Amino acid sequence: MPYIVLFAHPFLSVHNKMIKTISITFTLIGIVLLAQALKPAYSICKRELNWGWRSLVILISLFIVGYGVMITALYQSPNADAFDLVVAIILLGGSVFVALVMKFSLRSINKIRDITRLEHHHALLDERNRTLLARLPLAITENEFELHYQPLIDPTTKSIHSVECLIRWPQTDGSAVATSDFIHLAEQSHVIVDITRWVISTSLKQLGLWHANGHKLALQINISTRDLNELDLVSYISKHLHSNKIKPSDLTLEITENQVINHQTECFKILQQLRHLGVGISLDDFGTGYSSMTWLNQLPLTQIKIDRSFVIGMEHNKKHMAIVQSTLDLGIKMGLDVIAEGVENAQQAQLLKQMNCALLQGYYLAKPMPAEKLDQWLNQAR
Ligand code: C2E
Ligand code: MG
Ligand code: MG
Repeated sequence: MPYIVLFAHPFLSVHNKMIKTISITFTLIGIVLLAQALKPAYSICKRELNWGWRSLVILISLFIVGYGVMITALYQSPNADAFDLVVAIILLGGSVFVALVMKFSLRSINKIRDITRLEHHHALLDERNRTLLARLPLAITENEFELHYQPLIDPTTKSIHSVECLIRWPQTDGSAVATSDFIHLAEQSHVIVDITRWVISTSLKQLGLWHANGHKLALQINISTRDLNELDLVSYISKHLHSNKIKPSDLTLEITENQVINHQTECFKILQQLRHLGVGISLDDFGTGYSSMTWLNQLPLTQIKIDRSFVIGMEHNKKHMAIVQSTLDLGIKMGLDVIAEGVENAQQAQLLKQMNCALLQGYYLAKPMPAEKLDQWLNQAR
């Protein structure tokens, strides 16, 4: 209110009625525009200059007081009528300018910021990915990969039935590379085939050691689409099963629906050969692809793994509960083993047990761990 009086005051002393009206109207429009610019002004000041509301209000008050003083001084002159209009127009122009600058600069700052952030992100991602991709072949020969094993627990006996083998790539600088990230990168080239071969030979050797130490255990290995295009995959697996004295039925290969889609004929042929050998075939992340039912019907499966996105919150989410229950019913009726992934609490474990889920896997039961730690686990369980 005092500011409005301060604004209006000079115009009250103007004698020409028309000029007085125009000046007051312009000033009011100016105030409205300035008020409109307040929010973007605040955002800019806060974000770019780290200013709060208080600093902005002080700045605007100073501006208005200065403006009032200036106008009052101008109006002290009795013949200032013609000048009034010019000042009012300049003020309006100034206000419009400030308002527009505030509005558009916020928009362009946002735009520039988004573009820069995106470019930065892409540049970073590309550079990191390029480096990772280039280092992948060497990582195999230099033995940089590690294998972790996550137990699959029988909820009735609470014993470990099998372990899923999950690859890790520890970095010398301590940074983390998510498994799915580098696997995704490796899948873009033939290097995934070499990684899978390393995983198969290393984990089967480890399983052989566990068997030799009297632990009855089966193994699950994740494989990729490209692996299913390699004609010698079956003989490679057969050779390593034989050399480590492992029964084919103690090995299950996990594939995801999306992997099979593009290379159906070749994949089917290899999967059939693997089944003939006696190796189990599991459909991983079941329900996340777009034609899960087709694959159930067409692939030579022995197992399905209910994706953890359905297990999450199933204890209070009726839809998740219904999906899990139906998948279990369907799988059991089709003679498949059904495994629930991502079991994170006791309630989920209890519910899944009541629903006759054959095996449970998840952080609640055990996280993936190196072979030495699993050794301790197995010895304690005895
Ligand atoms: P996946 O085969 O579905 O493996 C399960 C993933 O869920 C693993 O992530 C595991 O650590 C994580 N997990 C297990 N229980 C829980 C839980 O209770 N809560 C949560 N939030 N997560 C849980 P990881 O090890 O990061 O692997 C990610 C994916 O990378 C795997 O998904 C698999 O598709 C792929 N992958 C891992 N190892 C290999 C490999 O040796 N070869 C290939 N081709 N793919 C692999
Ligand atoms: Mg898996
Ligand atoms: Mg999975």
